[in-house]
Amino acid sequence: MSELSNALQTRYRSDVCGSLRASDAGRVVRLAGWIHRRRDHGSLVFIDLRDRYGIVQVVVDAAVAPEAHAALTDARIEWVISVEGGVALRRAGTENEKLPTGAVEVAGTKVEVLSRAKTPPFYINEPDAPIDESVRLKHRYLDLRREPLRDRLLLRSQMVQAIREVHHAHGFVEVETPILIKSTPEGARDFIVPSRLQPGSVYALPQSPQQMKQLLMVAGFDRYFQIARCFRDEDLRGDRQPEFTQLDLEMSFVDEGGVRSFVEQMVINVTKRTRPDRPIQQLPFPVFTYDEALERYGSDKPDLRYGLELIDLGAALPATTGFKVFDAPRASGGRVRAIRVPGLGGIARSQIDDLTERAKRYGADGIVWISLQEDGEVRSPIAKFLSAEATTALWSATGGTTVAAGGDLLLIVAGERVRSAEVLGRLRVEVAGEIGLADPDILAFCWVHRFPMYQWESESGRWDATHNPFSAPVPEHRDLLTTSSGDLARRSAGDPAGGALAQQYDVVLNGWELGGGSIRIHDRELLERSFALMGHSLDDARAKFGALLDAFEYGAPPHGGIAIGVERWAALLAGQTNIREVMAFPKTQSGSDLMLEAPSEPDPSQWSDLGLSVRRPTGGVTGAKKDA
Ligand code: ASP
Repeated sequence: MSELSNALQTRYRSDVCGSLRASDAGRVVRLAGWIHRRRDHGSLVFIDLRDRYGIVQVVVDAAVAPEAHAALTDARIEWVISVEGGVALRRAGTENEKLPTGAVEVAGTKVEVLSRAKTPPFYINEPDAPIDESVRLKHRYLDLRREPLRDRLLLRSQMVQAIREVHHAHGFVEVETPILIKSTPEGARDFIVPSRLQPGSVYALPQSPQQMKQLLMVAGFDRYFQIARCFRDEDLRGDRQPEFTQLDLEMSFVDEGGVRSFVEQMVINVTKRTRPDRPIQQLPFPVFTYDEALERYGSDKPDLRYGLELIDLGAALPATTGFKVFDAPRASGGRVRAIRVPGLGGIARSQIDDLTERAKRYGADGIVWISLQEDGEVRSPIAKFLSAEATTALWSATGGTTVAAGGDLLLIVAGERVRSAEVLGRLRVEVAGEIGLADPDILAFCWVHRFPMYQWESESGRWDATHNPFSAPVPEHRDLLTTSSGDLARRSAGDPAGGALAQQYDVVLNGWELGGGSIRIHDRELLERSFALMGHSLDDARAKFGALLDAFEYGAPPHGGIAIGVERWAALLAGQTNIREVMAFPKTQSGSDLMLEAPSEPDPSQWSDLGLSVRRPTGGVTGAKKDA
């Protein structure tokens, strides 16, 4: 018997349901679990007994074990029972190949009912049955009994175990950082916790342990990691929850290559250990600069499982075409780009209208389409503006005139450089999904790096960090920060700092940003300069980040790190598109826990203890969303 089987033995059981095999035939065992199914054949009762290790068939014969049989007379599904009996090989022809225990059954001689159960609101034994998500969330403990969710939680647990093992093997120290802290901005709203002992003051829940982990580097820990709970008060989407878990790590005396190389090996190791069946598309991970990713895929998180790359049509078009939709953006530095979708030449007008609608929603003026049929016929509303030669030039620019069965479709978006690329990038992903281009098994990782340090926020008239306010510029752009005025009054979109690239890197998987990190600024003056560019006065920066700034005056090592979303990673490995599917007790779209009914009104005395009272918002809550 394995060490694990030994460890699982208790007075209720000698074995677990999922462990019995033909080699156990002849043993007398005691099992405990839930009644998964029950079939009554007169004097024979068949029970599928389930625990989290699996299912085994138990048969109780009234002629052999009348008391055990009687104990099961009114037993129902989901009752918890324990059974004692002999393991026997099933009769030839009655084996169940779908069950790992399917060669055997347990001939029950003693049955004890440990707990009765009401009829559950959904069947635990129908793993594929569609169930309204709110019902699943309300009775999450029952949903967790079902095989799919249980298996995903087990996968997540294996991942976390593998993560810990790899980090320990590479000299990382696991440190828990506090949850009640001061704001650490990651671009979202803070959740705040009022202090009772200091009325009027609040703690912020960490959006990430960013400042703490940097302080641990100053403290000399050299390599830190944490499976860290983070909290961000923002609108929820499929890949977001108000609280979530990051694999957070930081390393000293490294450059970008050092961090990326460790992280890549770690990610490969954990992925292969937990999903050895899923092929990794390319090793080492391909690396793109932010600019290249934008140009080729219209996204800083490209899905590389398919081509469908963006193609710049500029060179194939005459300087002016006479077609305003192309000419106007090009005259002001914009671009005309396309994706060529194989097989979609016969697209219906209504589908084009739908794509156009979406392009507009994403910020384009519209889309232009040209289709090429297998017989060479070209269809397009703009055919009248483009000569036959110009059209041929476009097709050659996008890969020649050989077309896929069904014809090819060029979807063209013209406009400002970044915006138009992003619109086309979104259509690329959606169209690929709709025509099934992405292989669901493949894991296509890549790195995207050299992001712009800042993006200009015209509304607030300041630069904002594109990722992390603590990121360092690439060494050759350090001067762009220092020569920039850093003076609040003179900040402008034209400031040289706008051209600075950051030592910032994201790891991407199948079109999802799995994580991001950077090499940090470890010099107080430069960090203050960078904060100034982002609109923080010196006093403000000191009030918000004083501990880190001060710490940098006591000997700060060069350092950098990353944080990887554990749920995103687990969801992708589990083939899910919503991170709720890998969380034991997630929240709804509006941030509610339907099972615990949180958030809820506190006891009035809790308000008064805190010296607080509530004024109900009249015009609705900022950014509030209803549950879908
Ligand atoms: N703190 C960053 C985040 O949460 C990650 C990092 O730069 O290490 O996204």
